Amino acid sequence: MNINNPTANQDTHFFGDVCKNFDFAAQFTQHDAGLLDQIKSCNSVYRFRFPIRRGNGFEVIDAWRVEHSHHQSPTKGGIRYSEMVNEDEVMALAALMTYKCAIVNVPFGGAKGGIKINPKSYSVSELENITRRYTVELIKKNFIGPSIDVPAPDYGSGEREMSWIADTYATMNPGQLDAMGAVTGKPIALHGIAGRREATGRGVAIAIRECVGVAEDMQKIGLTTGLSGKKIIVQGLGNVGYYSAKFLSEFGALIVGLCEFEGAIYNEDGLDVEAVFQHRKSSGSILGYAGAKKEFKNTMDGLEQPCDILVPAALENQITSQNVGSIKAKIIAEGANGPTSPEAEAAFYKNGGMIIPDMYANAGGVTVSYFEWLKNLSHVAFGRINRRFEENSNLNLVNMVEGITGTALTPMQRSTIIKGASELELVNSGLEDTMIRSYHEIREIYKNNPKIGTLRNAAMVGAINKIAVSYQNLGVWP
Ligand code: NAD
Repeated sequence: MNINNPTANQDTHFFGDVCKNFDFAAQFTQHDAGLLDQIKSCNSVYRFRFPIRRGNGFEVIDAWRVEHSHHQSPTKGGIRYSEMVNEDEVMALAALMTYKCAIVNVPFGGAKGGIKINPKSYSVSELENITRRYTVELIKKNFIGPSIDVPAPDYGSGEREMSWIADTYATMNPGQLDAMGAVTGKPIALHGIAGRREATGRGVAIAIRECVGVAEDMQKIGLTTGLSGKKIIVQGLGNVGYYSAKFLSEFGALIVGLCEFEGAIYNEDGLDVEAVFQHRKSSGSILGYAGAKKEFKNTMDGLEQPCDILVPAALENQITSQNVGSIKAKIIAEGANGPTSPEAEAAFYKNGGMIIPDMYANAGGVTVSYFEWLKNLSHVAFGRINRRFEENSNLNLVNMVEGITGTALTPMQRSTIIKGASELELVNSGLEDTMIRSYHEIREIYKNNPKIGTLRNAAMVGAINKIAVSYQNLGVWP
């Protein structure tokens, strides 16, 4: 396959779509064509196959790791476990990681991995063998390491798989002090970080809150300002979808619809996300939940129900020119990567909607992965060294204020003021700050040039400019 001319291949369109978006945004930048080409291209595409033992024989597994850009090191991106994975998809997702990291000022290049399996069809020990062998293949080609390329979870993978990768990497690199920084999204007991599991969903919820908080933009699309009472449909009740729905409810929104691959449920008065999650866990299906007023066997019908905001958080290509006309939401917030086709996006904006693009909306995961990597390199949990010191300083201050004013604070007031920040609080505050700043950075670009047209184009313009500066500073060797 011609890796940098996606349109030359019939089976490609996701990477082509990302490149089209890049080319459009590039018109609003001042960089020379060669530099733009360097930014856009996938630098390294590693495709490999390896055997595992299955039953009495062997099975061959197809896998990929793509490092899209080395303007920053290490490169970073999740590993997708799905039977639908293909080279084009992994390249597109790696490219999105590059732009995503630039948008949220995380100093990594973009990468992505893929293992072409349906994880549900394999036993736990088979999945462990596949994951460990995949890791060894990456080690053999220098495609993994704390300063080289750092994987994370994606669709179909989670903390368990990241643990196997960490252990395999550490075993194959005895004595490497920073070995745990070779992968993020690990469980807390294995050098992970508090808040990583829920980070992407929390980030999606903050992104939506920022967007609906801008009165001028809400007026234009006919919505009131603020999240309170906003009706939201979420597609996918996995890591990103579940936590997006959970935090959106906590922020005051109403989750009126939830869609999974087996069907969708709807209640205009709101669904209890936790109860639906538990119902699906025990019954194996989202359908049959007693609190739903409507059920749809065809999950795509769930996306078309009345709501203000739609959060696709499952897979790419869910909103296309076929169904965009039936979507009632005014805002699409892309929890998943690539859920809206370019044609659907154009139609959605034309109909008076707006889209919070994937490369910003779901960047909370990589942001907290960055914090986890920093923790692994510094070998100490955030807050561990200064927490007690902070509490003692705060205590002295409270005692002094009480002494001067003659007013005693309540025990609750005292403990709220005195308490030093935990790792989780520091992580969440860093995540919130990142999501808020980045949204307004993108919106400024969007607002200042009406020809840019979409938040996605604006996000891409910002990303291209930042990556171009890195490449210009690095120069070309030799
Ligand atoms: P996940 O495997 O935890 O969850 C995905 C969920 O989607 C599953 O519950 C699955 O059953 C459901 N699903 C599959 N097909 C569906 C369909 N047709 N309709 C409705 N639901 C369907 O995966 P995830 O980690 O939540 O990733 C979801 C998306 O978010 C992917 O596009 C991924 O690239 C993106 N993403 C994930 C992270 C992360 O930190 N996990 C970060 C950034 C972006």
